Amino acid sequence: MSLTNAYLKRVYEDLESRCANEKEFLQAVEEVLESLEPIMDKHPEYEENAVIERIVEPERVIMFRVPWIDDNGKVQVNRGFRVQFNSAIGPYKGGLRFHPSVNLSVLKFLGFEQIFKNSLTTLPMGGGKGGSDFDPKGKSDREVMAFCTSFMTELYRHIGADTDVPAGDIGVGGREVGYLFGQYKRLANEFTGVITGKKVGAGGSLIRTEATGFGICYFTDEVLKANGTSFEGKTVLISGSGNVAIYACQKATELGGKVVAMCDSSGYIHDPDGIDLDAIKDIKEVRRARIKEYVEDHPNATYTEGCSGIWTIKCDIALPCATQNEINEESAKVLLANGVQCVVEGANMPCTPEAITAFQEAGIMYGPSKAANAGGVATSGLEMTQNSERIYWSREEVDAKLKVIMQNIYQSCADAAEEAGKPGNLQVGANVAGFLKVADAMVWQGINY
Ligand code: NDP
Repeated sequence: MSLTNAYLKRVYEDLESRCANEKEFLQAVEEVLESLEPIMDKHPEYEENAVIERIVEPERVIMFRVPWIDDNGKVQVNRGFRVQFNSAIGPYKGGLRFHPSVNLSVLKFLGFEQIFKNSLTTLPMGGGKGGSDFDPKGKSDREVMAFCTSFMTELYRHIGADTDVPAGDIGVGGREVGYLFGQYKRLANEFTGVITGKKVGAGGSLIRTEATGFGICYFTDEVLKANGTSFEGKTVLISGSGNVAIYACQKATELGGKVVAMCDSSGYIHDPDGIDLDAIKDIKEVRRARIKEYVEDHPNATYTEGCSGIWTIKCDIALPCATQNEINEESAKVLLANGVQCVVEGANMPCTPEAITAFQEAGIMYGPSKAANAGGVATSGLEMTQNSERIYWSREEVDAKLKVIMQNIYQSCADAAEEAGKPGNLQVGANVAGFLKVADAMVWQGINY
C-alpha cells in the first residue's frame, strides 16, 4: 500500500482489516484513494464530514436465495446480490453479472467503480451493481428463464425507476434482460424504465447494445487525437468476444484500425487478415458457440487455447474487453516490448495495478475503464430519459449524444488531471473528476443519522 495522506491511509487500513477477504474490492478502493492524494489537502471538509469512510461503505447490500428448477426437474439454488452503493447524485444504477466467479467482493468492486463512472457521464445516476453466481453458459433458454424469473421475484421489491435501475453485464444480455423485465412487469403491474438494455420496440433505446464498445473507441479516438495520431492503419487487439468486445471491434474497424485478435474464456483467435466480425457475431451472438469455430472457415487464422496469450501478439493498440485483472505485469511488459502505444480499458479493471504502473512508467497512452467504458451506462441514462418522456430518439441522435458524452468525459479527465498537478494522467483525472461531484453532494446532503 503506497498511500501517504494520513486520512486516506487510516480509512484504507481500517477497511483492509474489515474486508480482508474482499481483494477485488480493496484493489478498486486503493486505486481510487491513491488518485485522490493530490487533492485532499485542498478539501478539509471531506475529512470533517467523513466522506471517505462513507463512500467506501455501500448504503445497502441485499443478498438472497435464488431457487429454480433445471431441465431434469432438479432443484438448483444460486446466490443473488444487489449492492446499492451510493445514491448521492441519483438512483442507484449499474449492471447485473451472472457468472460463477460472482461474489460480494467482485460486486462491491464493480459497484464502487460505478459511482465514479456514472458521475463522469454527467447524468444523474448513483452507483450500484448486482448479479449471481449462476452460469447461463450451457443452459437451455427455459432454464435461463426459470432462473431470471426467480431472481427478479426477490429483486423487484428493492428496485424501481426512481430507486435503482439495473442493466446487463457479463452473462446478462438481451435474452436475460427480457426475462427479468417480464417478471418485474408482472409483479409490479407497471411498465417503467426499471431496467435498461431493453429490446428496441419494447422500451429499449437504439444504440444501447453497441454503446459500450462504440464509446470505448470514441474515447480512444480522443486519446489518440490528443497525442497527434488516430486509429488509421493501427493494429488492434481486443480481448473478449461478448457485447463490449464485438462493438469495440466494429467501431475500431470503422475508424481505420485493423483488429487482428479476439478471445473467449477458452482461448484466442489470431487473424492477420483482420477479424471477420460477421463470423464472430454469428458464433457468439446467434449460435452461442465457442470462438475456436472461427478458424474452420478462415484458413489464415489460428486458434490457441488459453486467453492470456492474446497479449503476446504484436499490436499498436490494446483494448482489453473481457474481465477484471486480465492484463498482469508480465503481459504488460510483453505488450510494451512489442511496441504497444495505447492501452484503453474496455472491461472493468482489466489491468492489475502493476500493469498500469508499467504502462505509465513507459509513458504510453493509457485510458482507465471508469472513463473509457462509461458509454454503456451513459446510453442507459439516455434510455431512462426516453422512457420517462415516453419518446424515442433515432439511431443517429443517440449515437451523436454518445459521442459528445465520450468527448466530454475525455476532456473532464484531462482537465482534472491537469488541475491535480498530474497532466496527461487520465487515471488520476477520471478518479478526481468522478469523485468531486459525488463528495460535494454527500457533504451537501449531510449525515442523515
Ligand atoms: P459478455 O458476457 O457479453 O462477454 C464477456 C466476454 O469476456 C466473453 O467473451 C467471455 O468469454 C469473456 N470472459 C468472461 N469472463 C472471462 C474470464 N474470466 N477470462 C477470460 N475471458 C472471460 O460481457 P460484456 O461484454 O458485457 O462485459 C465485458 C466487460 O465489460 C466486463 O468487465 C463488464 O463489467 C464490462 N462492461 C460491460 C458493459 C456493458 O454494457 N455490457 C458496460 C461497462 C463495462 P466466454 O464467452 O467464454 O464466457
